[in-house]
Amino acid sequence: MALAGIGGIEAPYATCPVCKSTFRLRVTENIDSWEERFPVSADGNRYIKCFGCWKDLKEFDVVEVLDVPETLQDLVSKGDMGTIVLVHNAHEFEVESVNGNGSTKWQCALPRECLRYVPNPSTC
Ligand SMILES: [Zn+2]
Repeated sequence: MALAGIGGIEAPYATCPVCKSTFRLRVTENIDSWEERFPVSADGNRYIKCFGCWKDLKEFDVVEVLDVPETLQDLVSKGDMGTIVLVHNAHEFEVESVNGNGSTKWQCALPRECLRYVPNPSTC
């Protein structure tokens, strides 16, 4: 499979297995060893976690809820925005979501795979 090169740098596409977003990668290291580490899967997609799903979350990071655990479905909605208020461990984060008027909409512990880091949240 041929990959398109931009300015001599290979820039293959990858799909994030968590949030399903497609993004373009700039491969600055050796493309052959990179191909070995991130092979294209049987369905033709190359799955690599995007920055938002891979980043180590810390307190005050803004996140978007990608998925809601069964037990929290009544409380949390997919697409809700929240802020990390406490890091329980590498896989679980206490997230607070705030209403437009500043009151707390919900606060609960969510697993990492349900969250996506939002680098530049819009303040509307
Ligand atoms: Zn992602």
